[in-house]
Amino acid sequence: MDTQTILVLNTGSSSLKFSLITTDDQKVVFSGLADKLGLPDATITFRHNGKKNETPLSPGNHKQAVSEIFSYIHAQGLTGSIAGVGHRVVHGGEQFKTSTVIDKAVLAAIEACVPFAPLHNPANLVGIRGAMEVAPHLPQVAVFDTAFHQTIPEHAYLYAVPMQWYRQYGVRRYGFHGTSHQYVVQRAANELGIPLNDSAFISAHLGNGASATAVLNGKSVDTTMGFTPLEGLVMGTRSGDIDPGLPPYIAQSLGITPDEVVNLLNKKSGLLGLSELSNDMRELTEAAAKGHKGASVAIEVFVFRLAKAIGALAVSLPRIDALIFTGGIGENSVLVREKVLKRLKVFGFIADAGANAKAVGGTGGVITILDSPVAMVVNTNEEAMIVKQTIEVLKNK
Ligand code: ADP
Repeated sequence: MDTQTILVLNTGSSSLKFSLITTDDQKVVFSGLADKLGLPDATITFRHNGKKNETPLSPGNHKQAVSEIFSYIHAQGLTGSIAGVGHRVVHGGEQFKTSTVIDKAVLAAIEACVPFAPLHNPANLVGIRGAMEVAPHLPQVAVFDTAFHQTIPEHAYLYAVPMQWYRQYGVRRYGFHGTSHQYVVQRAANELGIPLNDSAFISAHLGNGASATAVLNGKSVDTTMGFTPLEGLVMGTRSGDIDPGLPPYIAQSLGITPDEVVNLLNKKSGLLGLSELSNDMRELTEAAAKGHKGASVAIEVFVFRLAKAIGALAVSLPRIDALIFTGGIGENSVLVREKVLKRLKVFGFIADAGANAKAVGGTGGVITILDSPVAMVVNTNEEAMIVKQTIEVLKNK
């Protein structure tokens, strides 16, 4: 293969998503998932040329998964094409304002951010160390979820708590999903023919996790997630914003520890907690249509809170060139988009019912009528953004 490629690794605590992507036109050569890592039934699945191949992985740890990926690359004669490895890293604290080549100091800095993202950063580090060991000759680049939000001004990132908490313990709003917000805003500017350096967008990334961001001239100026990804919108299983007086009250009422309360707010709340049925918007939409009360309530709260957050984000912008919907729900839920635009009457949004109904399953496009401010669907592609940033970092190395 003549074209160059980047291997993108997205390592979770028990899974590793990977894809080999060309540098010139960001085509996926192959992709896959190593799943149930650390368990006896771990597997690795490759998707290549329209075929899917799943095999058991034993002993099934992260390093072995990385090894298998490189063996596959070798067997396919693709070794020579790889220019570098791009790693998704969840938390880069205040230190990382852009993507960066990984060296010993960067590893230590990612390690130092572990207390901020105790589930994610350790897993990301395992993936990075595995790749460094298996392919020491390749440059490794870290692309942070938080980096895009480092342009948020102080008045938006500070909590109104004792300043010492910020100075000594790094207590502030960091924001997440940065790679996705940055990608869809660049795409939207392109599609609408607006120069990115003179643009004002609000992007709503609505997947299992959900966040919305105000982006002015291509830079994040406010976002709904905060110190952790628990703040902000209603999500699949996360509560989003709550009164901080609630955790001690519920801990006492249920006789559980603060950690257990946080676990319930992360895993048993959101759409799942409200509906008492599911965290999955598609399932809830179907159930609500059949009269399931909990499903309807969950959708209404989700929509209201999203619209309210969009109103709050607008404060950071001089105008709204477009409201962007992305993520599994944003890209596919005709109902959620229609309801959100209805709730945003104050901005003058009027949905184009036909265009909204058509913007599903990867089609995207503008979903408002000509006289309305623009709302649009842009399909996110975090992998493409990781490739783009990895190439940029390697160019400047
Ligand atoms: P993740 O954050 O895990 O990457 P996704 O971005 O894939 O998640 O989004 C998953 C969400 O998208 C789920 O709530 C799912 O129900 C929802 N979704 C996917 N397709 C549809 C659809 N056709 N209608 C409504 N919701 C959908």
